[in-house]
Amino acid sequence: MHSQYSILIVEDDTVSCQMLKTVFETQGYEVYISVTGRSAALTINEKSPDIILLDLGLPDIDGLKLLGKIRKFYDMPVIVLSARSSEDDKVSALELGADDYITKPFGALELIARINNAIRHSPRLANKNEEIFRYEDMTINYRSKKVTVNNREIHLTGNEYSIISLLSKNAGKILTYENIIKKIWGTNPGGDTRILRVNMANIRKKIEQDTSNPVYIITETGIGYRMPC
Ligand code: CA
Repeated sequence: MHSQYSILIVEDDTVSCQMLKTVFETQGYEVYISVTGRSAALTINEKSPDIILLDLGLPDIDGLKLLGKIRKFYDMPVIVLSARSSEDDKVSALELGADDYITKPFGALELIARINNAIRHSPRLANKNEEIFRYEDMTINYRSKKVTVNNREIHLTGNEYSIISLLSKNAGKILTYENIIKKIWGTNPGGDTRILRVNMANIRKKIEQDTSNPVYIITETGIGYRMPC
């Protein structure tokens, strides 16, 4: 079965990286590689990978620190890879929100089994390939691009649909203003979030019963928006 998921491999050992890249490409994954923590942070922000495989021993930042930063904003499964076998690291990684922990050396089959398990336990990923998104009385049909609330079709502009579809495909996760703006308009806003806020106000007028008390799209003040799941 071929995966439609993307995976970010954060690992500074180029031999391991190549091996992992081959393993996941064979499984149909779109593979991103970062050899430093800094580049990993950029790739996560830009590509929003579905899954992260994180080596703890990185040249520029402690992997556990990076994991803590990732968990502040993202909920994709993170599987920690480490040569260290100490229980302390394992516990710290799990406490910081890692989904699983694999000690090197490991076999490709074991790794794939662990990743598949993490995907099965992630509600967001389990629904990723569904054609229709449902939350409360709202449905989004990704094929026909039709949105309904209480069986009533909602007429959205292209950008409004793109925003709502992006949030629903990441339901449960906070998307930052900058992340949404980059994905929809393709530009760096330089801190100006007006265009997004105007679009959001229009979307809410169309889908929410009470725009001052929204249920479908939640504002995370100062950070961004989140659709519940
Ligand atoms: Ca390493």
